[in-house]
Amino acid sequence: MQVSAAGGAFELVQKQFPEPGPGQVRIRVQACGVCHSDSLTKEGIWPGIQYPRVPGHEVAGVLDAVAADVPLFKVGQRVGLGWHGGHCNYCPPCRRGDFILCENQLVSGINFDGGYADYVIAPANAIALMAPELDDVDAAPLLCAGITTFNSLRNSGARPGDTVAILGIGGLGHLAVQYAAKSGYRTVAIARGQDKGPLAKQLGAHVYIDTTTQDPAKELQKLGGANVILSTLTSAKALEWAVDGLALAGKLIVVGAPDGPITASPFPMLLGRRTVAGWPSGTGMDSEDTLKFSALQGIKSMNEVYPLEKAAEAYDRMMSGKARFRVVLKN
Ligand SMILES: [Zn+2]
Ligand SMILES: [Zn+2]
Repeated sequence: MQVSAAGGAFELVQKQFPEPGPGQVRIRVQACGVCHSDSLTKEGIWPGIQYPRVPGHEVAGVLDAVAADVPLFKVGQRVGLGWHGGHCNYCPPCRRGDFILCENQLVSGINFDGGYADYVIAPANAIALMAPELDDVDAAPLLCAGITTFNSLRNSGARPGDTVAILGIGGLGHLAVQYAAKSGYRTVAIARGQDKGPLAKQLGAHVYIDTTTQDPAKELQKLGGANVILSTLTSAKALEWAVDGLALAGKLIVVGAPDGPITASPFPMLLGRRTVAGWPSGTGMDSEDTLKFSALQGIKSMNEVYPLEKAAEAYDRMMSGKARFRVVLKN
C-alpha cells in the first residue's frame, strides 16, 4: 500500500521484491502497526523523502531471504523491525557504539519501503529476533510505541521504588504505564478526565491524577515529587507545569512530539538540578529487549486490527485520535 506523492492517497500496487542485497534481509510481513509518525511519510513532512514510498515501521514477520554475507539471521526466523532502520558503523556515534544516534541512520518506511506491504527489505543490523511467546499483532506496536516508552524508562536513571509519572494515556501512554508498573516504579498516571482512572489502575498505575479537577504538580509534590515524568503528550501547553512536579534532580523525558517549544520554570531546574530531555526509540537489540520484557511481563497494547488492503481506513482511524489505542494491519 504505497503513497505516490506527499499528501497522496494510499494505492494498492503489485510489485516484485528482489533478493536482498549485501547486508540485507527480506521479511515476509505478518503484521504492521500504524503509527502517528507514518504521517511523516504519508503527508511528506520528512525532509527530502522520495516517492513512491510504503510507510510502516512496526513490522512483525518472518525472514524469507537473507544475504549470504549476513551472520546470525536465518530464513524462517521470526523477527521485528522498528523505526531504527539501520546504522552506518562508521560515523562518530557508531564508532562509539551509540548506534541510535547514527548520523546516517535509516528510518523504516521513510528511507526505504516499510511494512504496509507483503514484504520488506531491510538492513540486517536493524532487525530484532522475536520473542516466541508473542503473536505478530501483539508484537507489532511494541516495535515503536513499546520500545520508545520501555527504552526511555529503563535508561532514565529511575530505580525500583522511585516515583515515575506517565503523562497521557493513549497509544504510547497505556504501554508506558504498564512498563513503569512492571519495572517496580511507583507509577502515577496523569490524564484528562475521571473516566481514564479505572483503566489506568487496571494497567498497573498506583495513583491516578485527573488534570481537569486536580493540579498535577501539587499532587506529585504531595508524593515527594516525581523522579521521572515521561510525557507522551502532543500539546506543548499541557506540559508547562511538568518541571514543577519533579523531585529534586528529577527528569522530564519527552517522547511524544510536542506541537511547539516547551516552556519550563527556570528556578526549579537551576536550584533543584532538574532536567528536560528527549529520547529516540532504540536499536534492533533494544527492540529485542522490549519484546522479551513484554513477553515476560504480559505487556500488550490494546489494538484495533484491519486487513492490509484497508490501510487507508486504518490510517484515518489512527489520525482521528479515536482508536483505543493502537491500530495494526494484519496480512
Ligand atoms: Zn512510530
Ligand atoms: Zn553511523
